[in-house]
Amino acid sequence: MLLWATLFNLVATASRRLRRQSEENRRLALYDSLTGLPNRTLFLDRAEQAILAAKRQPAEVAVLILDIDRFKEINDTLGHGAGDFLLTQVEPRMRPVLREGDTIARFGADEFAVLLPQLDSTDTATSIARRLRRALDQPILVEDLPLAVEATVGIAVAPEHADSAELLVRRADVALHVAKAAKSGFEVYSPKIDAHSKPRLSLLGELRRGIADGELVLHYQPQLDAVTCRLQRVEALVRWAHPTRGLLLPAEFLPLAEQTRLIRPLTRWVIERALRDWRLWRDQGLDVAVGVNLSARSLGDEELPTELALLLAEAGAPPGTLTLELTESAVMADPFRAASILGRLSRMGVRLALDDFGTGYSSLAYLKRLPVDELKIDRSFVSHMGADTDDAAIVRSTVELARSLRLGTVAEGVETSEALATLRAFGCESVQGFLFARPLPAVEMGEWARHHAASAPLVGEATA
Ligand SMILES: [Mg+2]
Repeated sequence: MLLWATLFNLVATASRRLRRQSEENRRLALYDSLTGLPNRTLFLDRAEQAILAAKRQPAEVAVLILDIDRFKEINDTLGHGAGDFLLTQVEPRMRPVLREGDTIARFGADEFAVLLPQLDSTDTATSIARRLRRALDQPILVEDLPLAVEATVGIAVAPEHADSAELLVRRADVALHVAKAAKSGFEVYSPKIDAHSKPRLSLLGELRRGIADGELVLHYQPQLDAVTCRLQRVEALVRWAHPTRGLLLPAEFLPLAEQTRLIRPLTRWVIERALRDWRLWRDQGLDVAVGVNLSARSLGDEELPTELALLLAEAGAPPGTLTLELTESAVMADPFRAASILGRLSRMGVRLALDDFGTGYSSLAYLKRLPVDELKIDRSFVSHMGADTDDAAIVRSTVELARSLRLGTVAEGVETSEALATLRAFGCESVQGFLFARPLPAVEMGEWARHHAASAPLVGEATA
C-alpha cells in the first residue's frame, strides 16, 4: 500500500513537472524571453484572428512594424546590458498610447510590432504611429544617460493591403524600409512603393544623401514678356547631379520623392536655393522674379506657408518675387484642400500659377474660386499650334478664358518665332521656351540676363 502511494506520488510529481515544463516551453515558443512580450508566432496568430473578425464587422486591422533607429550604436557604445534595458522600456512607453485590445510584440533585435484590430480608418493607424514615435521620443535613462529613442514605423492595413497576417506583416515591413531609406519617420504601404522596391529604395536612400551632400542643382529658364521680350521671371528646375548616373531630370527622381516624405526637404531646399540665387542676382543689379514648382503633396503641407515666410524673410525677398507653380492636375485632384493652402499662400503675397494648364480638366467653377494669378499653358498645345488647328484653338481660348478671369498667361514650350507671333496675336502675355533659352545654371543665367538686356532693341521696347 505504502509502495503504491509512493509510486503514485512519484508519478504525480513527474507529471506535474512535465506539465510545468511543457507550459514553460509553450511560453518560450510564444513569448520573447527578454521583454515578456508576444513573439512573432503569437503576433501572427492574433493578427490572423483579427483579420477574420474584421471581415465580419467590417472593420480594418493595422499592423505597425517599429524599428529603433541607431540601436546598434547604443549597443556598441554602452554595451548589450544597456541595449537590453532600453528594449525593456519600449513597451511601457508605448502601452499608454494603445487601446486595451491592441497587441505589442517583439519580433527580434530592435524590431517591435503593434496590432491594431477593429480600426475605423487608416488615418487612425497613422495618428497612432505618430503618437507612438512621440512617446518613445521622451528620453529614457540608460545608466544615468538620457537617451532619446527615435523609431521608424511601417504601416499596412487589412483588407486594403493584404488579407492574411503573413502578407500584412510583410507589407508593413516594405513600408518600414521605405520610411527608413527616406528617413521620413513612418510610411503607409502602397502597391506603388512595392512595385520596384529594391532599386527604388536604394535610389531613395541616395536621394536623401544627395540632398544633404549638395548634389541637387537648380537650372533656370527665363520667362519673357511676349511683346517686349523683357525678362520677367526665371523658373527654377531641379536637377540631380548623381555621382555615377550623371545629371538626372526631375522625372527620374521627383515621383519617388513625392511618394515619401522626402519631398518636403527637397521642396524646402529648392525654395531656399532659388531665393539665395535671387539674392545673388539682385546684389549684382539684376532684378528678376523667381518661379518654383510645388508638388501635389505640398498642397497637404500645412507648415509650408509658415516656413515659406521664414525663408523669404531670411533672403530679404518680398513675397511677390516668388511665384509658386502648381500643376493643374494636382490642384484639381482635391480643389477644396488646395483652395485652403493656396488661400494662405496668396494672402502672404506670394504669386500662384496653375502649371501645365489644359491637361488637368479644370472646372471653370473651381477655377474662378482659386486664388491663382496666372495660367501656364502646357507646352503640348503650344509646340503643336502650327500643325494642329485644334491646339491653336485651345491656346487661343485659354488666353481668352484667362483674360476674362483676370489671370495672366504664360505659354510654355515656345520654340519658333512663328509660335511667338501667333501667341502675340492671341494676346498671350508671357512666353518661355527654347526659342529664348534652355534652362541654365544660376551663374550662366545671370550672364544670359545681362547679355539679353544689352542686346535690345526688341519689339515694343519703347512702350514697355
Ligand atoms: Mg513649371
